[in-house]
Amino acid sequence: MRHPEYRNWAGTTLCRPARIVRPLVEEEVVAALARAAAAGETVRAVGAGHAFNRLACTDGTLLDMSAYTGVGHLDRDAGLVTVRGGTSLAALNAALHRAGLALANVGTITGQTVAGALATGNHGTGLAHGPFASLAVGLRLVTADGAVRDCDERRDPELFRCARTSLGALGVVTRVTLRCEPAFRLRVVGGSRPLDDVLDGFDEWAGSAEHVSCAWLPWRDTVSTRALHRTEEPVTPGARLRPWRSTVEEVRCGLAGLAGRVNPAAAPRLVEGLPPRRPQASYVDESYRVFSFPQPVRFLALEHALPVAGVPAALRALRGALRRFGLYSPYSVLVRVGAADDAPLSPAYGRRTGYVNLTVPRGTRHVELLRTVEHVLREHDGRPHWGKAHTATAEVLRPRYPEWDTFARMRGKLDPAGLFTNDHLARLLGSVDE
Ligand SMILES: Cc1cc2nc3c(=O)[nH]c(=O)nc-3n(C[C@H](O)[C@H](O)[C@H](O)COP(=O)(O)OP(=O)(O)OC[C@H]3O[C@@H](n4cnc5c(N)ncnc54)[C@H](O)[C@@H]3O)c2cc1C
Repeated sequence: MRHPEYRNWAGTTLCRPARIVRPLVEEEVVAALARAAAAGETVRAVGAGHAFNRLACTDGTLLDMSAYTGVGHLDRDAGLVTVRGGTSLAALNAALHRAGLALANVGTITGQTVAGALATGNHGTGLAHGPFASLAVGLRLVTADGAVRDCDERRDPELFRCARTSLGALGVVTRVTLRCEPAFRLRVVGGSRPLDDVLDGFDEWAGSAEHVSCAWLPWRDTVSTRALHRTEEPVTPGARLRPWRSTVEEVRCGLAGLAGRVNPAAAPRLVEGLPPRRPQASYVDESYRVFSFPQPVRFLALEHALPVAGVPAALRALRGALRRFGLYSPYSVLVRVGAADDAPLSPAYGRRTGYVNLTVPRGTRHVELLRTVEHVLREHDGRPHWGKAHTATAEVLRPRYPEWDTFARMRGKLDPAGLFTNDHLARLLGSVDE
């Protein structure tokens, strides 16, 4: 019998699960786990498949949670919303906006599911903002024994901390309660600065607005900066179209990447040869439309979370390494920042964090480039984004996570037989009984 096929968003991982189950109610999740356990199969949950690696792959049961959606209870006064785990961030944003509410911070895309974003330590940018999982105040998961467990800061707080960033290794997250706030607008201010200026005053730049990011084409000595400030000003006419500028930029990079397949070293010439972009004029829009933009071009990305104070040295080392390497990606290196988190497997665990992301066109020629960047970021105390490309194993990861054993104990307790494991997870976390 030919098994069904699963591919991630990037199209870079493929697996053939024995079966794909698309639960619509919690009982179907419980039943699928029982059936898999009885058949000696493993189980992986999958959301929108936006992870760039094999986290969600299995040859057993794939629980496709993308139809397990819905925004439930909305408590405007308390600023809380309860959603089903498979709900996309886009659907959540839209429902919150209709209710006059918003999430405090969101990453660059909203196609991923709430549970997938939690599981991998998804983040946006802003020194005052922890990763997406820090917005969670409670969640429900179905564990390997079929039990449905609710946890929050009072009910089973240790489970809650571990389950906030769990790589899908503790159970299937069916419901999450998140903090939200009254809807707000943001003023977007773009700019360009010498890279060394930003690095010399990195702390000051990182705190210069509620949300900052910079994008750097490594053959250049300047970076494009983006700062977002809360404002009471009205939405700028035509603001809805502005995020498409970023989309067009991505398409430009994608085209340069395609053209560069023949000669990847030509990326700088191809990018510089495209018509120059006019600088982004400042504008105001609803926060959720400012944070994210449509990303239709498929690519591969690597990102590491570094201590924020270590970012300047890491980027200087990266500049040297990339220029020596000589093969560039047509995409910018993206730098973002965030507050510390206390989930044991959060890449932001225990420290204010700078996130350094490299995006490359799909294709084997750029894999070596990813490895070079990974090596530099690892040398600078980087922790890989769980949902992006990396080669780290438990041996590399364990010393980087002070509460590694807290998570390992929880995993051993909840999933002693390794129902929720796969080859990728075994490499990352070790086997359950280690
Ligand atoms: C174009 C693009 C842009 C991105 N931008 C950002 C960004 O700005 N910031 C950032 O931090 N990341 C970003 N990412 C990474 C992405 O957000 C994460 O990898 C996230 O996991 C994707 O969510 P998903 O629903 O697609 O999860 P999937 O890829 O489907 O799954 C990821 C993990 O979550 C687990 N999982 C999924 N659903 C459940 C569930 N219900 N219960 C238990 N475990 C579950 C899976 O088992 C797997 O381990 C981006 C990715 C892409 C493709």
